[in-house]
Amino acid sequence: MNTPAMEAIGLTRRFGGLVAVNDVNLALHVGELHAVIGPNGAGKSTLTNLLSGELRPSAGRLLLHGAEVGDWPSWRFARAGVGRSFQQTNVLKPMTVRENVRLAAQARITPLRRYLQVVTGEHAPTEAAEAALTRVGLGALTGRTAGTLSHGQLRQLEIAMALAAGPTVLLLDEPLAGMGPEESERLAGLLKELAADHAVMLIEHDMDVVFAVADRVTVMVDGQVLEQGAPAAIRGSAAVRDAYLGHAA
Ligand code: ADP
Ligand code: MG
Repeated sequence: MNTPAMEAIGLTRRFGGLVAVNDVNLALHVGELHAVIGPNGAGKSTLTNLLSGELRPSAGRLLLHGAEVGDWPSWRFARAGVGRSFQQTNVLKPMTVRENVRLAAQARITPLRRYLQVVTGEHAPTEAAEAALTRVGLGALTGRTAGTLSHGQLRQLEIAMALAAGPTVLLLDEPLAGMGPEESERLAGLLKELAADHAVMLIEHDMDVVFAVADRVTVMVDGQVLEQGAPAAIRGSAAVRDAYLGHAA
């Protein structure tokens, strides 16, 4: 296969004595939706934070288009095409949908700095913002105040914000959380579409969604990769079933 957009080799992150991500190997390819599943505390969010540069690895290698990036400062990840969904706290609710995305297009800036740009009238990219909003299905709501959006629309907005900087790699940590089944299905369809021209890593706990959209699945338990493979293989795995059900509340 061609060089992965992003690759983790033996990736490890410790917090004191706890090994949150333990010797993880994972390759994300453009054209693939790679789902990461696992019980609470498995290390999925820590993995996302490692791949997006927010956390430094304790050990192991991280490659972006074949180049070592494990020691990069976090801001370089976004500039080099690694996007992640913003948490809802990153949406500025008094501002319009369009303004939120325009400002997110300038990757890796804090809400305060974005606010300052607005009050000082500093310009932010518009074309990328419009394209991202159209892509996630918010094209008709660009002028709406973000605070008036539904939960599902806010989630779409977060994805548009992640897309606006033009990433190659898209890291999405439970973007469907709290959505109703219909909304969730629609957004999962969008993520599938985005995987056509991005390397998408989707963290999601709803197995039905995962098996419907994933091209590849990694199952994590206690920081380690329990199993990795095509959805059909994962679905049939007794080890995965035991681990997953054994941890489920
Ligand atoms: P998941 O997203 O799969 O639920 P996390 O990556 O959030 O798992 O957490 C994995 C483990 O690492 C958990 O035991 C969690 O308590 C721990 N952990 C995560 N972040 C930190 C941190 N900043 N400091 C200390 N422990 C952490
Ligand atoms: Mg998590």
